[in-house]
Parts: sequence; structure tokens; C-alpha cells
Amino acid sequence: LFIAFEGGEGAGKSTQSWMLAEALRADGYRVLLTREPGATEVGATVRSIVLDPATGELSPRTEMLLYAADKAEHLRQVVSPALERGDVVITDRYVDSTLAYQAGGRGLDLAEVESVARWATSRLRPHLTVLLDVTPGLGRSRFGEADRLEAEPEEFHQRVRETFLELASKDRDHYMVVRAERAVVDIADAVLDRVQPLLGH
Ligand code: C5P
Repeated sequence: LFIAFEGGEGAGKSTQSWMLAEALRADGYRVLLTREPGATEVGATVRSIVLDPATGELSPRTEMLLYAADKAEHLRQVVSPALERGDVVITDRYVDSTLAYQAGGRGLDLAEVESVARWATSRLRPHLTVLLDVTPGLGRSRFGEADRLEAEPEEFHQRVRETFLELASKDRDHYMVVRAERAVVDIADAVLDRVQPLLGH
């Protein structure tokens, strides 16, 4: 079973993916909790390049290709082997983040970005994507690294949010959209309820 958490900065993805992993482990499942970008050695280098302010401005295409490289390594080294072992794999960000940030945020063509991102991930899709929907205002108030958030204007984060919501609205069977302002424990319970019937995949 493959589950992705998606959403903007300060949505609570790390907390919720961790809570789901812990709940499933307590029920006896073997769980691999991972994230993009940065879960592999190459990915960590990519992360340091794209997120280091000292890098300066990258062209959106360069940024896209770096994220795609992170994804290809993540899939090959981490996600696929774990799924083959029969683990539940939970990832904090996946292909939708690229669609939201590089297409929605940076303005690259969505179909082109999707084609590169799907190619990088061998078209492997999660059984369920949990979108933690956060308004840029709430995300800002919660997110620790203000510098990183403020590197982009509010409209950028607004476009990221809209793209996530659009993706979810087109494929309701594979998405769960949760308002991120709900209480942490309520969200975790709702996610577990939605995941339980999928266990065994
Ligand atoms: O969720 P996390 O803090 O690891 O995300 C790292 C950062 O990378 C986010 O702030 C997001 O702005 C950026 N990112 C991006 N495009 C992606 C994935 C992440 O711009 N495809």
C-alpha cells in the first residue's frame, strides 16, 4: 500500500504522515515513512541545491529536472524496494508537489511537467493521496522557516494550493482532502479511517 501526503507549507504533512505511520505500526504493519525531496543521498544533494538561498535563482526547468532526479532516485532506492517487501509506504510529498510547485507555482506547462514527473517515477501512483489543504495565511503562521516561505509571494502559494485542489477534484477515488485547520488528532483519526479499508493492498 502506497500513501502520499501533500499540501503547502505548514499544512502538517510531517506530523500527519508520522502519526499514520505510528498508528499502523501499532497495528502490526511494517511501515516505511519517507519524504521528497531528500530521502536519498542524491536527493539530499538536490534538496540542498534547490533550497539553499545561496544557489540564487534557478530557471524553473532546471529546478524541475532536479526535483525529477530526486524522484527517480527515491523511487528506485526507497519506494519500490519497500513496496516489493510488502511494506506500507508513506511519503511526505510526491508527484503532486511537483505539479503544484513547478507548474502551478512556477508556471511551467502542467502536461509537460506531469509527463516528466510520471516518467521519473515510472508512472507509479499512490493508492491514496491525502491532501492537507492549508490557506497560505495559516501555513505562514504555523511554518517555522519564515525565510523559505517568504521567498515566494503569497500568490505563488495560492496557485500551489489551487493546483493541489484541482488535482484532488479530478480523481476523488484516490484523494482525501482534509482542511488543515482541524485538530491534529481529528485529522489523524479521519485519515486512519480512510486508510484502514485499503490495508492489504
Ligand atoms: O515539505 P518540505 O519542507 O520538505 O518541502 C521542501 C520545500 O521544497 C518546500 O518548501 C517547497 O516549497 C519546495 N518544493 C518545491 N517543489 C517540489 C517539492 C518541494 O518547490 N516539487
